[in-house]
Amino acid sequence: MMHPDLMKCFDLTGRSALVTGSARGIGLEIARTLRMAGASLMLTDLDLDATRKAAADVGPDVGALRCDVSDPQSVRDLAAAIGACPDILINNAGVGREGQTRDTSDDDWRFVISVNLDGVFYCCRTFGAAMAERGSGNIVNIGSMCGFIVTKPWGGPAYHASKAGVHMLTKTFACKWAKSGVRVNAVAPGYIATNMTSNPNPTRVELTPVGRLGRTEEIANVVQFLASDASSYMTGAVLSVDGGYTSW
Ligand code: NDP
Repeated sequence: MMHPDLMKCFDLTGRSALVTGSARGIGLEIARTLRMAGASLMLTDLDLDATRKAAADVGPDVGALRCDVSDPQSVRDLAAAIGACPDILINNAGVGREGQTRDTSDDDWRFVISVNLDGVFYCCRTFGAAMAERGSGNIVNIGSMCGFIVTKPWGGPAYHASKAGVHMLTKTFACKWAKSGVRVNAVAPGYIATNMTSNPNPTRVELTPVGRLGRTEEIANVVQFLASDASSYMTGAVLSVDGGYTSW
């Protein structure tokens, strides 16, 4: 049995958490895990009905609001609707676009960058600045191994650039707010079994040393660690959780 002091540093009882893009996939699993660790939760996503359904699935007292992270006004409206700034912010919302080629259209480029990179910036700007003013807070961004390397199958220029940008935003805000009691870290997943990887492609598994896709809870567990006091000396870190993909 785990020592009570060790368990305590993973405990999130009494803390509030906001997870973007949490109606399904990795975001929904993160919400479930933070809830199990004791946090009170607000789920946000594009589709309000789906978000409400997901919230009800996570627990009876879990909140649900609509937020399009790529729209700065939507992020400001979310902050106004919540009132108090959450203790924990998980910037999870993200998109890929299949079939991006060297002919990536302006729309493809803007779509991916606006959700994956602008969205993280808008949420950090709004909630992180409020956390820094308050003197406490914890942000975990969902980056990607695509922010470190060019993967096979190819992720496309916008996805790779956006995730590398998320990693650098993580470090930038970590340094900026370190003395204000706000920690900012990121997780860089490999291929995880969600809608994003639903298009079957054996290359993903072949090139992953552990020989399988990751499960959503294998990302959520690491996010929970970063969101808790167990990682109190960590800020500006980008943790690879990729079944060894980037180790080849
Ligand atoms: P999913 O597509 O399953 O879930 C993403 C969620 O984000 C969806 O509910 C989606 O809503 C929502 N979303 C999309 N655009 C916006 C927006 N503008 N504002 C708010 N929410 C939005 O993806 P995953 O769970 O797989 O991905 C979660 C994160 O993990 C992403 O940042 C992704 O890049 C990252 N990641 C995933 C990997 C994987 O292999 N699955 C690997 C590496 C990183 P809707 O359905 O309405 O579009």
